[in-house]
Amino acid sequence: MGTGGDMADVVSVARPQRWDTPFGPDMTDGDVDDLLRRPEIASIDLDRFPIHTPLTGILRNDTRLVRFAPGDIVVREGDYGNSAFLILDGGMRVVIAPSLPRNLLGRQVVERKGFFDSVAQLWRNSWVPEIRDRPGESSRMVRDADLRGGARAFLQDIPAIIDQHRTASINAGTLFGELAALGRIQRTATVFAETETLALEIRWQGLRELRKYDEGWRRQIDATYRSNALKNHFEENALFRGLRSQALEKIVETTLFETYGSFDWHASYRQMRQTGGDVLDDEPIIAREGNYPDGLLLIRAGFARVSVKLGNGRRTLTYLGAGDHYGLSALYDGWKTGEAGALDTTLSALGYVDVLRVPAGMLEEHLFPILTPAEVPRVGELVARSLDEDALMEWAVEERYVNATQAMLIDLQKCTRCDDCVRACASTHEGNPRFIRHGRTFDNYMVANACMHCIDPVCLIGCPTGAIHRSVESGNVIINDETCIGCATCANSCPYDNIRLVEIREETGAVMTDPETERPIMKATKCDLCEGQLGGPACVRACPHDALHRIDFRELEEAAKQW
Ligand code: SF4
Ligand code: SF4
Repeated sequence: MGTGGDMADVVSVARPQRWDTPFGPDMTDGDVDDLLRRPEIASIDLDRFPIHTPLTGILRNDTRLVRFAPGDIVVREGDYGNSAFLILDGGMRVVIAPSLPRNLLGRQVVERKGFFDSVAQLWRNSWVPEIRDRPGESSRMVRDADLRGGARAFLQDIPAIIDQHRTASINAGTLFGELAALGRIQRTATVFAETETLALEIRWQGLRELRKYDEGWRRQIDATYRSNALKNHFEENALFRGLRSQALEKIVETTLFETYGSFDWHASYRQMRQTGGDVLDDEPIIAREGNYPDGLLLIRAGFARVSVKLGNGRRTLTYLGAGDHYGLSALYDGWKTGEAGALDTTLSALGYVDVLRVPAGMLEEHLFPILTPAEVPRVGELVARSLDEDALMEWAVEERYVNATQAMLIDLQKCTRCDDCVRACASTHEGNPRFIRHGRTFDNYMVANACMHCIDPVCLIGCPTGAIHRSVESGNVIINDETCIGCATCANSCPYDNIRLVEIREETGAVMTDPETERPIMKATKCDLCEGQLGGPACVRACPHDALHRIDFRELEEAAKQW
């Protein structure tokens, strides 16, 4: 509310609520009633849902009805999903092998430039930034806006796809896509509509509630994960590699699934960054110092902080990510000595963490007899680090830079502010640099506002066309300019403010506008690590003072030694 005069304006706004923006704005009470009569939904016990999150509310706000035309791509292999699909009518096909070529999926095909192309690019750069060709009919890879309120890629020749690829039908009543939606992992296969198909798309928030309050849905989702992915997960973990298949199967059968924290941690994290709050006290505790562990904890996705009590506060020792485990030394020592060992650290969730709990009994029966004491990590090694290192670790965890695989770290003692790095970036990217030489600092170091190509790239979640994606070859997070519709979902999701929306222009410098709305056409842009350029990121090569490096925060100590 404005107060007028010279006084500062005070505006009172309602706190945003989860269902302020329904997933499907067109869902009606009639649609919900129809859904409640379907056997897959009718089997759900309404009474198990809390008053504030009733099943009808979930169906009304967290789901939407989507009609797919034959050939429409429903989910793409490699995409990071945020929803699952229940087929209501019609049929779809999943592509088993070989995968569909990238151009059919609406992916950018990155060709590495040759030496002469790279040199010629220096002279081709125009005085006008962000020049693009006018979109031609032949380059259209997305359908116009549809019921989902966005655009989508589609396949034109279904018989050829079925002929050249091994595929399998998925029919009405089948739920798919739930694992990627709940675990923020990539879709493992492409699914497209074979006929006119009606599906119920359930966003992950609603899916999580269904799994939480309905035993049947939870069993179905967990069973799919257990049969498809859990054994692989153990086989890939060095700790379990020596186990026989039978022992591994027993462990798979008894392992428990747990989740901690909030899946959309970027929203609360952004808020915390703006207000400067301390999050450690609010972090959900996964295992507490002094307690006796009943199982080994394996991190399946996300990050967790390991800390110890220090005075009235806590000191961060390290953090764990996907594939790491926790509690092994206490369990192993207890088994060796016959006396239960207490945990000497606390494990808390940084954002959203997916955890697998392997019961202690299973470890004692199958794993410990083949484990040597040298294979058991000791917390003492972490405590022995210097306070300087601890402070750096604390900062990296606090700022969530532990998520980075390619953070742009600038040594402020070496940097002369000449901006050669920024100019090199601009001349590689249509005249506009893809980063800002500005960012958070620690001691003499600054992490610049450049995309860090995160382990958990939350910017990918929600992109309606899949334009922002992780490159299958390099693992870099890149944007397909052709399929980006400039909706800004990614920019609003990046917790580090590393995506910018830009107006695009013709050769003449004229801003391209949408003929219907007459608004400028926007595209999302960010650092692509000079994907396709000879010699890697131009910024690093351009720095005359060796002040700029791209680093993986998980290997910070190693990187620092070489600098
Ligand atoms: S855009 Fe942001 S969230 Fe996405 S990978 Fe880059 S830094 Fe991470
Ligand atoms: S603006 Fe971002 S989220 Fe929207 S289409 Fe483009 S890349 Fe995807």
